[in-house]
Amino acid sequence: MKAVVYEAFSTPPRIMTVPDPTPEAHGVVVKVMATGVCRSDWHGWVGHDADIQLPHVPGHELAGIVEAVGKNVTTWKIGDRVTVPFVGGCGACPECHSGNHQVCDRQFQPGFTHWGSFAQYVALHQADINLVRLPDTLDFATAASLGCRFVTSFRAVVDQGKTSAGQWVAVHGCGGVGLSAIMIANAVGANVVAIDISDEKLALARALGAVATVNAAQTPQVAEAVIEITRGGAHVSLDALGHPATCFNSISNLRKRGKHVQVGLMLGDHSAPAIPMSRVIAQELEILGSHGMQAHRYDAMMAMIRSGKLAPEKLIGKTITLEQSIDALMSMDKFEVAGVTVVTEF
Ligand SMILES: [Zn+2]
Ligand SMILES: [Zn+2]
Repeated sequence: MKAVVYEAFSTPPRIMTVPDPTPEAHGVVVKVMATGVCRSDWHGWVGHDADIQLPHVPGHELAGIVEAVGKNVTTWKIGDRVTVPFVGGCGACPECHSGNHQVCDRQFQPGFTHWGSFAQYVALHQADINLVRLPDTLDFATAASLGCRFVTSFRAVVDQGKTSAGQWVAVHGCGGVGLSAIMIANAVGANVVAIDISDEKLALARALGAVATVNAAQTPQVAEAVIEITRGGAHVSLDALGHPATCFNSISNLRKRGKHVQVGLMLGDHSAPAIPMSRVIAQELEILGSHGMQAHRYDAMMAMIRSGKLAPEKLIGKTITLEQSIDALMSMDKFEVAGVTVVTEF
């Protein structure tokens, strides 16, 4: 099969012909129909992820058609349309037994722990636990855009933030994660303040339901601006970028007993950011993470997509070929593109 392969970190990946994958007894092989290009792929490519062994095929936001099925798989058959969350569970550890596959002790992550979906085919483990069936009405490009940024945002807003109607939600960073969070928070009835340094992205944030925006490049005191807009601070605030400055602002703009959810990854030089801890204590703030979402929680999100309350297709920026994915991957740290880029031609 054709795949995007890198043999060293931070050196240009190449299109190569590699052996077709075969399914594990508990797994399947999926013909990739669409795969998103994500900042996590960039982090992996520059060497921020200790799970990656070289040579490596990136790609974790995928949707496709089951091509081959392992002998122990009971739920899936050839031809099924499927997607997966970017973290797959083992099904046997205490976290999986408690239903929290997103923090499994032995995670399967395509594009990180194993070869990913920047390829014509991808092997997926523990298929009965980790695969999600796609409604016929959901196209592959949109489905591919769900598995990482959208589900992580859904979990951040709904399950971790426990956001409810009428609350104020601040979203710092309006890339794929932030725009997803804005759409989801708006759908559950919250008032959203979007923060970014790009007017173009803030316009998109408004179109997706943000009721107020703050351009952080033109606002010296971002947290104070959000507190002013929300008349006392956000109930829930997300760092959707993953940067010490947005993390600090997100915690600082909370109202008392508010919840900060860290969604954007903090890796490399940014892995130990400053936290306004005196404020966390005095105001009884909560600091939470969001790390994907279990396959069994997709039902709630899919129901909101089917009903039209969530429209993830609006987050798709442009569709590209596998060849073009190499440049898209290498420039993913530059934040130039609005919306999510998806590979749809292999
Ligand atoms: Zn597990
Ligand atoms: Zn991703």
